[in-house]
Amino acid sequence: MSARLVQQELASNYIGASKHVTFLHYGEEGARPKIYIQAALHAGEMTGTLALHHLRGLLDREVEAGTIRGEIILAPLANPIGLGQFSAGDQMGRFETQSLVNFNREHLDISPDVAGLVAGVLGDNSAENVRLIRAAALSVLGEIPETSEWLSLRKHLLLRAIDADVCLDLHTDMEATMFMYINAFDWPALEDLGRDIGCRAIVSLDPYVPSRTFAGVVGGLWPRLAAAWPAASIPHACQTAMIEMRGRHDCDDAHGSLDALNLLNFLRRRGVLSGDAPPLPPSQCDCVDVEGMDVGYAPAPGFTVFHRKAGEEVTPGDHICDVIDPTAADFTLSRMPVYARQTGTIYARALDGIVVTPGKVLFRIAGGARLPHRLGRSWLDD
Ligand SMILES: [Zn+2]
Repeated sequence: MSARLVQQELASNYIGASKHVTFLHYGEEGARPKIYIQAALHAGEMTGTLALHHLRGLLDREVEAGTIRGEIILAPLANPIGLGQFSAGDQMGRFETQSLVNFNREHLDISPDVAGLVAGVLGDNSAENVRLIRAAALSVLGEIPETSEWLSLRKHLLLRAIDADVCLDLHTDMEATMFMYINAFDWPALEDLGRDIGCRAIVSLDPYVPSRTFAGVVGGLWPRLAAAWPAASIPHACQTAMIEMRGRHDCDDAHGSLDALNLLNFLRRRGVLSGDAPPLPPSQCDCVDVEGMDVGYAPAPGFTVFHRKAGEEVTPGDHICDVIDPTAADFTLSRMPVYARQTGTIYARALDGIVVTPGKVLFRIAGGARLPHRLGRSWLDD
């Protein structure tokens, strides 16, 4: 017994060539709760994919044991377009080369069309409202014409995720701890997820980020409709998280199997699988507002040498890294230091020895104090 494997063909941009995205389905369609997990939306980010590979093995055993109660959909390779983009031997998985759009931006905000469909039929029965809104969302998505490969991919990912109770989008950073970005509406509801997967940082975001990340449009549907229909009872019916599953050098079976087991525990804790989940692990971090996220930027062209690792605790003034220009006219000015401006955890940083241009994001620190240089800014600056 194993997953039901669905290969969804995508509309093609190219004569005589087409791609497909693969979904692994567990449980009865329509069973609740439904949890959707995708990985590698930025194509080459494989730590989440490795976790889902291990999770597939664990879930196949759950199928044999008859413990699947809800519905689970996994998309271990969510971006076949990016997986096929190579230039001179290097994979180019972050931006679509046709449109130059970041694969985790410009996802489809269907909330205006859904609002149009449910106008006048929502009332004070929140469960019925959820059912009506989910049906309307699937109907709106089904009508979207697939005029390009990238639009087709966005549509088919959303068709699996939009009616989920929980939607997880798994990424890989450069060098990083386990951390996640969540919709501000989803805290503390997602505290169990953060503890189960061992997050060292959790950053809460404005749910209406205009750049439309995948998790942003899936989770944002509900608060947007609640704002449009304040008289109706509309719960926030889908919790979403964009999880960075450490850094690109952490793609090994020890981490992958641990992450899969942690995700399995979360699925059981949420009732998708029958049986008792183990006790919730202790929390390793608080949830901080995005305005408490310090970001270090490259001050000039050069290459990076770091003095602090991801996961370390720092305070303002700590010397995090240098950007070095060995050809500077004055040797004493060839190292440009970059300092922390927050008390907290360095949860993500660039690699050592990479060549950077001015403004390149070098590191991120999560802390509780709101920072003057971050007020009103999102985290989407790379
Ligand atoms: Zn990513």
